Amino acid sequence: PPARLPVALAERSYEVVVGEGLLARAGALLAPVLPARRVAIVTDATVAPLHLPVLREGLAEAGFTIATEITVPPGEASKGFGQLQSVLEQLLAAGTDRRTAVLALGGGVVGDLAGFAAAVALRGLPFVQLPTTLLAQVDSSVGGKTGVNLPLGKNLVGAFHQPRIVLADTGSLATLPVRELRAGYAEVAKHGLLSGEALWRWCEAEGAALVAGNPAALAHAVLESCRLKAAVVAADEREESPEGGRALLNLGHTFGHALEAECGYGGALLHGEAVAIGLGLAAALSARLGHCSQELPGRVMSHLAACGLPARLPDLSRRFSAAALLARMRKDKKVRDGALRFVLLRGPGEAFTAGEVPPALVETLLRDEG
Ligand code: NAD
Ligand code: ZN
Repeated sequence: PPARLPVALAERSYEVVVGEGLLARAGALLAPVLPARRVAIVTDATVAPLHLPVLREGLAEAGFTIATEITVPPGEASKGFGQLQSVLEQLLAAGTDRRTAVLALGGGVVGDLAGFAAAVALRGLPFVQLPTTLLAQVDSSVGGKTGVNLPLGKNLVGAFHQPRIVLADTGSLATLPVRELRAGYAEVAKHGLLSGEALWRWCEAEGAALVAGNPAALAHAVLESCRLKAAVVAADEREESPEGGRALLNLGHTFGHALEAECGYGGALLHGEAVAIGLGLAAALSARLGHCSQELPGRVMSHLAACGLPARLPDLSRRFSAAALLARMRKDKKVRDGALRFVLLRGPGEAFTAGEVPPALVETLLRDEG
């Protein structure tokens, strides 16, 4: 039987359901939580031929009608205003009313785009996440953040719009390219480090099996990641806590975002790959500042490398300028009053936000690691 995790929020609580074969049973799972048996599906052109047929059948079995199926091109470029407008126009042209639920079938791009469209169409439509990438199953589908990019930067426009339910069908990951699977695993490892010794040790033991596609390892990772993220989100629904709460989910991301931005978002470095390097650097920075053991950075880097992820700057084919990366970090939207803020570790399960890390120290770290 699938596992069900509650996400307890002030307005409305919802469940994350994790298991194999959920898309085939989507109708039965959705009927109790939606206002009507009428949906609009948003997906991308890669996912549609792979997983839309089984979803259609699962919905039809429970008597659902599909008002429209909207397919966007795959890739980050679809998370923009042009595509948003097109999705909204297609939703409304299909006669979508406030009882029609928007179903996002795909990775984080489809989830963020469809979720934002659902948040603003008719001032809010019921929304369902059907994540099909590991990243989306362990991270982006839980927590209610939706949005699109601007040429000025990623995720600068958006809304909190919580789904009515999340169906993480781990069977759908079987078609995911291994590079995408590994990139999603970086967020699992992040959750392991945030959660504590138990999940971190599980990662060290089972991470390699997971990235090789082991179904039991995948299911466990999705469930435990969602458990951690649900707890963090429930305690800080709208990221209002400046230091604790959702802010801690940015472990590895200050470095990661800078690396992504330096590469351009053209796929040279996937988000998860940048996060993997960021996790190693965050551990290294924690050790340099005396917050954690000197062993932790090596442990983190060798684990990520064992899972086929780039774990440190020298793993990359190109060289990064420490000064350029530092300049990127100072432009991060989480920077306040010019002070560099990092999520650091005292050990697994002991993350905290460091308010004022000296830039010179970060630059030295980047030089030494690069
Ligand atoms: P993605 O949606 O682009 O998916 C990656 C690739 O995998 C795409 O080419 C897609 O077509 C393909 N794909 C998806 N499912 C597949 C399957 N089952 N089989 C084969 N191919 C499949 O990328 P992603 O990594 O899932 O998500 C990245 C996005 O998520 C970014 O835009 C990021 O900003 C966002 N994000 C959002 C949050 C949040 O809280 N809302 C959190 C983290 C990341
Ligand atoms: Zn991330």
